[in-house]
Amino acid sequence: MTKSLLPKGEVARRLQRIQAAIAEEAANAGRGPGEVALMAVTKTVPASSVREALLAGADLLGESRVQEFREKSQFYRCRWEKIHFIGHLQTNKIRDIINRIGCVESLDSLRLAAALNSQAGAACQKLPVFIQVNIGAEDAKGGFLPEGLADAARQIAEMENLSIKGLMAIPPKGGGDLWFGRMRELSERLSAFALPGADFSGLSMGMSADFRPAVRFGATIVRIGSGLFGPRD
Ligand SMILES: *Cc1c(COP(=O)(O)O)cnc(C)c1O
Repeated sequence: MTKSLLPKGEVARRLQRIQAAIAEEAANAGRGPGEVALMAVTKTVPASSVREALLAGADLLGESRVQEFREKSQFYRCRWEKIHFIGHLQTNKIRDIINRIGCVESLDSLRLAAALNSQAGAACQKLPVFIQVNIGAEDAKGGFLPEGLADAARQIAEMENLSIKGLMAIPPKGGGDLWFGRMRELSERLSAFALPGADFSGLSMGMSADFRPAVRFGATIVRIGSGLFGPRD
């Protein structure tokens, strides 16, 4: 964990600026500001700065690393439902997050889905999930390829302890609006299947550098790290 580089009050000021930008883009797209949640992405950020973001009005927290989450989250003092997991999750770490996290947005394989389903069942949690899409079909990124998504969604929708809430993506850098548009198309197509118990209205996309176009293309969650907390080493 690194020390916060920002002066006191700076996280709150940055959060307000980002919220204003989200509201502006949402309004331009005919959407209300309440339709987009601002997620503060906490990797490498000290718990005290995470607290600042929560107090300043961050809607959600995004955790990428199980060990770091376990060390820091006791200091957050927020409801666990507000904490989403957004990193690659190994099946042997599931027990460390079940009933401590409100959603797994990085559901990136059927194997992980099956393991989450069984452990959520054992812990009596109906676990909300976002299906991660490897929208740019990049080797280095996880998630389902667009062409395999419908079939995977059908199988995940049948897992009784998981509750699909939407799609998540980390698009290739520099693609502009292209990838966000494709994500919106995928979410519309999956919604049209009307799979029982599955809800595809959630769209988690957009980070510090590109949250504005993401909101224009229908993001319901933008995931902001460096824009809020400063650069990571
Ligand atoms: C780190 C991270 C972010 C935030 O990235 P920034 O560019 O710092 O805003 C968003 N989503 C995921 C999955 C991440 O790992």
